[in-house]
Amino acid sequence: MAKSAVIIGGSLAGLMHGIMLKHHGYNVTILEQEPSTSRQGYDAGIKLGPNVLSFMKNHDRVNREYKIDSVSPVTFNADGKPKPKHKQEMTATSWGLFSSILRANFCEQGSKAVPNAPKRKSGDGEVVFRNGAKVKDLSYAGGKVAVHFEDITNGLDDTISADLVVVADGTQSSIRGILLPDVKRRYAGYICWRGTVPESEMDEQYNSEYANRFTFHFMNKEYIICYTVPTDEGDLEPGKRLHNWLWYMPLPEDSSEYSKVMTDTNGITHSGTVPRGLVHPKVWENLKSIASSKCPPGIVSMMEKSKLPFVTKVYDVTSSKASFFGGNVFLVGDALFTLRPNIGMSTQHAAYDCEMLEHVIEGTMTTAQWETAVLRCGNAQQHFAYMVASYGLGTKLQFILNALRWGLLLLGQNLGLS
Ligand SMILES: Cc1cc2nc3c(=O)[nH]c(=O)nc-3n(C[C@H](O)[C@H](O)[C@H](O)COP(=O)(O)OP(=O)(O)OC[C@H]3O[C@@H](n4cnc5c(N)ncnc54)[C@H](O)[C@@H]3O)c2cc1C
Repeated sequence: MAKSAVIIGGSLAGLMHGIMLKHHGYNVTILEQEPSTSRQGYDAGIKLGPNVLSFMKNHDRVNREYKIDSVSPVTFNADGKPKPKHKQEMTATSWGLFSSILRANFCEQGSKAVPNAPKRKSGDGEVVFRNGAKVKDLSYAGGKVAVHFEDITNGLDDTISADLVVVADGTQSSIRGILLPDVKRRYAGYICWRGTVPESEMDEQYNSEYANRFTFHFMNKEYIICYTVPTDEGDLEPGKRLHNWLWYMPLPEDSSEYSKVMTDTNGITHSGTVPRGLVHPKVWENLKSIASSKCPPGIVSMMEKSKLPFVTKVYDVTSSKASFFGGNVFLVGDALFTLRPNIGMSTQHAAYDCEMLEHVIEGTMTTAQWETAVLRCGNAQQHFAYMVASYGLGTKLQFILNALRWGLLLLGQNLGLS
């Protein structure tokens, strides 16, 4: 009899795990709390690391182009003059496009980006993507995990049992809160402003300076990066894509500026993100005027033309355990480790968790080895993120200390000490 899996959370980590398990013959149900079947990204771009690319090589049956390389990295002075090259490269896509490709692979859902979704092949398991299903609890009996959820469209409670459960409910994971009550999200002390502008709305000069480039603009303990991403609908041709900018800046929670920035046009103060369209106009105008005094003209122009900017607080989550209920429940993705966006590794980390779980399914890795691998990888990436963040946002001393901590952690891992 086919084995069954339930996945909690239908975003990128949940979908990648769902596709992998389906291709191994599991009957998979994804439970996603969001009632709507169509979802938009945050317009922030997704960096594609090696495990995402290998996931796509092994499991993608849509076979459409989805990524853009930003291969000529450069930094600009405030007056717009290029400075010596910064050795970084970046392959990126948009959350919306990537999510559409994964949805098509998982449950044959068509979209503008993927009009013809690939059909199920023989040997694949059966799949269900259930929207409006908010998981509340898990229990374990007789070798099966029972997943208790509420159908938020009618308020009724329901339960599904499965051989294997993947918990992919993101950084605010309520299931992690049950499994690991001591693990809390920690505010990193800084925020990230984000926005996008279509290439078609930018001057030719700025398009040639920024398109296909991974650019940095460092200021005093804050910095901006820009790179090119496809649209959610899948436009990859030059002239039809988006310039994506991110501005990292410190914002202490006890500062007077904090409540101004995090309070939206309806007077609601957000603990995570002030969504697109709800940023207070005064706050946004103030940021643009700061930009015009210290940013290169290309970035000033991008900000002037960004219609729906948004701002998000940066958090860290560090889980101490990843497998539960005798190795039948797996905590993955942002729910397991929330990595600072400065390194753009969140989707990569989720793909790594998925690739390691595939080894467990194939019988080449034990659950205990899986747990060791994902905890090590998450810890290493988190310390790398602390170091990168302190390079742009901290003091030289903080950077050196974080670099030392990262190096020592890697050394300890290589010596088998952690
Ligand atoms: C709508 C959306 C848009 C995003 N856009 C971007 C972007 O543009 N750029 C970027 O870098 N990152 C974006 N992210 C975050 C990015 O997907 C993650 O950082 C990373 O890919 C790891 O994904 P994840 O699946 O672990 O977590 P997430 O992407 O956060 O997904 C968690 C999922 O679990 C669901 N969920 C939470 N609790 C429950 C519950 N109790 N029951 C059922 N479902 C639950 C959530 O609704 C969500 O769909 C976005 C996330 C979402 C949800």
